[in-house]
Parts: sequence; C-alpha cells; structure tokens
Amino acid sequence: MSSSRSPWSKRSLTAQAMGHVDPLTKAVVPPIHVATTYIRDEDNAYSSGFVYGRPDNATIREAEGVLAMLEEAEAGALLFSSGMAAATAVFQALDPGDHIVASKVMYWALRSWLMTEAVRWGLKVDFVETDNLDALREAVKPGQTKLVWIETPSNPLWTITDIAGAAEIAHAAGARLAVDSTTASPIHTRPLNLGADIVMHAATKVLNGHSDVVAGALAGAKADAFWARVVNIRKMQGAILGPFEAYLLMRGMRTLHVRTAAQAKSALDLAQRFSAHPKVARVLYPGLPQHPGHDVAARQMENGFGYMLSIQVSDGEAAAIRTAARVGLWKRATSLGGVESLIEHRASVEGPGTPCPPDLLRLSTGIEDVEDLYRDLDEALRG
Ligand SMILES: *Cc1c(COP(=O)(O)O)cnc(C)c1O
Repeated sequence: MSSSRSPWSKRSLTAQAMGHVDPLTKAVVPPIHVATTYIRDEDNAYSSGFVYGRPDNATIREAEGVLAMLEEAEAGALLFSSGMAAATAVFQALDPGDHIVASKVMYWALRSWLMTEAVRWGLKVDFVETDNLDALREAVKPGQTKLVWIETPSNPLWTITDIAGAAEIAHAAGARLAVDSTTASPIHTRPLNLGADIVMHAATKVLNGHSDVVAGALAGAKADAFWARVVNIRKMQGAILGPFEAYLLMRGMRTLHVRTAAQAKSALDLAQRFSAHPKVARVLYPGLPQHPGHDVAARQMENGFGYMLSIQVSDGEAAAIRTAARVGLWKRATSLGGVESLIEHRASVEGPGTPCPPDLLRLSTGIEDVEDLYRDLDEALRG
C-alpha cells in the first residue's frame, strides 16, 4: 500500500500502523493471528486468501504493509525470520554460475556466507569498493553479472555508495541492484526511488528498535519473475517471520519516525564533539563534511545521516578495548538500532580478513540524553 493512495503522510500512517481497525472488536491494535491453518469453503475455494501458516499470515501482512508503504515498494514487502534469511533468499533466487558484485565493506556475516556457502552453490562473487563507481563499473560483467549487492552506509566504516549511480551500472550490465538499507532505514533513504530493484533490512535493528526481535525484510520495486522466486523461496523454505515477532515489529515501527529523528540528531552531535576529542584520532560519520561519502550521502539521505558512527581511538587497539570496558551508560554489546546506545570493538567480532581498523569502536546511538552519552564516553576515553 502506498501513501500516494492515502491523504495522510507516511509518519501518520506509520504511527497508526496503517490505521487498520479490527472489524469484529473495533480494536485499534490488530490482533495477533496465530492459526497455522484455515477453513476451506464448501465450494472448495479459499475465499479468505489464507490457506496455511508457512507461506502467509495476516499479522505478517499488516507489518509488511507498513514497510511497503515506507519504501514505496510496488511489489510489496516480505518479512523473514532474520535479516540473514532475507538477504540469502535474494542470492538463492539466482542460478548457479551467476556472477555477483558486492560491497567490500559490508555486514560481516553476509560477506562470510557469500565466501563460504554461496560459492558452494556455484555463485561467483567479487567484492569491490562500491563507493568508487569506476571500480564497480569495472567489476560488472555484462551478461554474467546478475546481481549487484550494496550496503550503504556500510558497516563499520559507514562508507557511502551512490545508489542511483550503482543502479545505472547494474542495469546497463543486465543485473539487478539490491541494497542493504538497514542502517539508513526508510526514514533516511528510499533505495527503490533511486533505481534499486530490491531493498533489504535487518528489521532486528532500527525498524523494530527495541533489541527484542530478530527479523528481516525485503521490499521490491517490481513484482517480476525474480521477485516471484524470492516469494517462493520464503514460502518453500519456511523462512517467514513468526506472528508474535511481526506484532512486536509493528509496535516498534509505530515510533520509527520519532526514534530515528532523535537518534540521528544525537549521532551528529556526538560525531561533531568527538571529532575534537584529544583521545579520538578519527570519527567516521557520513554527516560530517570531512567523511569521504558526505556529498553523496547529502544527496541520497534525508532527515539526517542515521544513528551509526565509529570512532578510531588515538592510542590504538588496546586503548579502544579499554575504553569499551570502562563505559557505564553505553552498553558493550553487538547489534545496533535500538533505543539503548551500544558500543563495540568491532574488529574482535569480524575476525581475520576484516577491513575494520583495530582501533575502531562502533557506536549505535540510542535515545538517551546526549549529554549523558557524551560524558560517559568522554570519561571512558580519558581513563
Ligand atoms: C544485523 C545486520 C544484518 C543481519 O541481520 P540479522 O537479523 O542479524 O540476521 C544484515 N545487514 C546489516 C547491515 C545488519 O546490521
């Protein structure tokens, strides 16, 4: 469902989860549908449209409707049991022998899956610095490359890839463009409007926003044969999200606009202040004019530059690990996008082969008082 068919803004529609009211009880919150099976009509049809719980569910559809509206996705949205389940469904819709070009700086688990599992199924993957469109243009092989996969801003350097530029290059080579837009969220970027074919979210992160649901999502520009394969993969492989999780995700998304606005404001404030900090060598945040991707980010992001930033600690890796050990308000944990701020020594997670510098601390900005967030990390950095 698109907001263009509604008189209300996306913010209003999201706050009310599309404003659906349960027809039976008039409840303003839709019920959680838990049934795995549905009554067949006497004439043998399934007039409700629901048959079985693995392919489809009414609570899932409610949450998918919100995301499809936010991403302006003609084909609609699909919820999965995790971000990884959503992402891998896209790669599984390719054929053996198909060539993929993917961002070198990307979510580590997906990079690892591509390097280990995807290649075993005959997919050929090249990783390039997709923030450099010339490098991307050189890497695509017309006729052979079937998918370009980018993440922007990308973990954990917040590298920016020009989505419209990447779409043009992918399409000229006969490939699709898929964008992992987890850290941008539909509030800051809408990749489908910039020419992407598929947008992916780890809904575990800011879409849900409360660190209590693992979920993934895809939204499609066109309901073409490739999208139909992705739908079929979710259905046949049983990768759909559970109804309770879909309900929680929908509750989380109702506050997406206010959370992302507050988080992006605090992230920019922290990025600016830590840029001048004696114990910080470098701040990576696309909202800073000195960030290499700032100009592209300013073009393709709106309502701020997101909630993720990284700092490189002046005194190196050991000092970075010590800093993370000393914080109190920031929580020392992996993941991102929740209302609570998280700090992580990222190289420890990513392991060998990571492009992540060893002195880097990844910060996910929550909604706490920004003065408290600054003071806590400032004191931890000073020791
Ligand atoms: C977390 C994350 C994923 C994977 O999502 P899961 O829900 O953990 O499977 C993919 N991409 C990005 C950018 C992420 O942050």
